[in-house]
Amino acid sequence: MPISRSWLLGATLALLGLSHHTAAGQAASRSLAVRPRLVVFLTVDQLRPDYLDRWARQLTGGLGRLSQRGAFFPNAFQDHAITETAPGHASTMSGRFPRSTGILRNSAGVEDPQAPLLTSRDPGASPYRFRGSTLIDWMRSRDPRSRALSISRKDRGAILPLGRAKQSVFWYATSSGEFTTSRYYADTLPTWIRRVNARRVPQSYAGQSWTLLLPVREYPEPDSVPQENGGREFVFPHVLSSEPARAASELPSTPWMDRLTLDAALEGLQALDLGRGPQTDLLAISLSATDYVGHRYGPDSREQHDNVLHLDRALGTFIDSLFRLRDSSTIVFALTADHGVTSFPELAAQRAGRTPPPRYDISTAMRALRSMLQGAGVDLDAIEFDGTLVTVDRSAFAQTRIDPDRLLARFATFLRRRPGIARVDRVRDLSQRDTVQDAVSRRWLHMLSSDAGVEYVVTPMQGAYPAGAQIAEHGSPYDDDARVPLVFYGAGIQPGRIVERALVVDAAPTLARVIGITPFERLDGRVLARALAGGVR
Ligand SMILES: [Zn+2]
Repeated sequence: MPISRSWLLGATLALLGLSHHTAAGQAASRSLAVRPRLVVFLTVDQLRPDYLDRWARQLTGGLGRLSQRGAFFPNAFQDHAITETAPGHASTMSGRFPRSTGILRNSAGVEDPQAPLLTSRDPGASPYRFRGSTLIDWMRSRDPRSRALSISRKDRGAILPLGRAKQSVFWYATSSGEFTTSRYYADTLPTWIRRVNARRVPQSYAGQSWTLLLPVREYPEPDSVPQENGGREFVFPHVLSSEPARAASELPSTPWMDRLTLDAALEGLQALDLGRGPQTDLLAISLSATDYVGHRYGPDSREQHDNVLHLDRALGTFIDSLFRLRDSSTIVFALTADHGVTSFPELAAQRAGRTPPPRYDISTAMRALRSMLQGAGVDLDAIEFDGTLVTVDRSAFAQTRIDPDRLLARFATFLRRRPGIARVDRVRDLSQRDTVQDAVSRRWLHMLSSDAGVEYVVTPMQGAYPAGAQIAEHGSPYDDDARVPLVFYGAGIQPGRIVERALVVDAAPTLARVIGITPFERLDGRVLARALAGGVR
């Protein structure tokens, strides 16, 4: 009996061992079979995750398909303090926070006079401030045949997701109403982009009206809200100029901009022959209409509701067309946003029956700083304040008897007493805070590199806007601005709604795992294993 039992056990183990080995082998070959030939990375500028839930029933197109049939993380964050477009896009495919990408603000984003545009008077642009690598660099280090096309309404939306990579990168120049690029990338425009521009689609919208996609009863939001759009043209229909060049410059504030961008992306995919394998290619698309519409009318507007529905339909058409051109089982999608947005404070307070936070006035503080420096006899550039960051040039104090720390402390005290300001933090004290509970401290730490020269950071009260702001705002370290959706869909992805906290910096390492490559630098993000199908986990 014991002998036969041990024989049985051995045989069972052998069988188990064998079957385990075989299962692993099958998993490996399965993961190889689904290894995508195309990554489609979608960034929707200023998309809040609550939009996808609020209007879920009406999302019958691409947004619905991705968020309801993909792996959807509704609790994802751009976990840094200055929630603007440039730092947000720089984090999407780098897997790193702004402290490491070097892209801190829009005002020090991609503008580069040494990289003029090929066919437009719009400002020159390049990624020269960007540090480190991104997904396309890791892809190319495994297979140099991998290529990328990145396209957007905005220069920073097209450039920063690819880091410094000199791939096919195009954006829309309003001064010419055409897609173009800068000298950093090319000396001439490719034929396919010329073909797109020659159709003069933006100009053809002259005199067109943006009207509601669905019957009016489908929109619970009031239309006539005078706080929107600085009190001008805040009701439907929104009519474009009858003059073609002006219509082309107005197009970005309408849902048609995203359709134009998606159509151009498909044309580029075909012209460049992306996604046919054997290597994996990358198609990065940043869709900006949500940001323009959101700034004008705010996140609670009928305009944003309708714009998101238009975007949903345009994305649906895009995905359907893409699946006709390429094998759908070889494509993996990711969708996220560069930041969210905060409601108009007075409007939000009025609707909630409470008092709005006071608006904060930066110019008074700037004048106060100037007179403090003047009074101390120190160079006016010794301490700079841009409304958020206090930057210090300590060498400017060397020839004076003034203690910079005392002057800074005085200025910080002055700022703390300003209405609408929540906190003024000394940067070197931030790491001692509870960065798990205190999201503002953590997001500031993720923002600043040690060589940025920033010594103090100023945080407004939650929900507060700057004085005089007529448009809806983002850029704060609070959740309304930091929270974004993160979605994966397609090859290698396990669908489901995953409520665990995720970060936008997790997107790049997760996609890297799906396509079987290894990032070659240290990342802030981690692989979101719960989004992955068994074969690639
Ligand atoms: Zn943005």
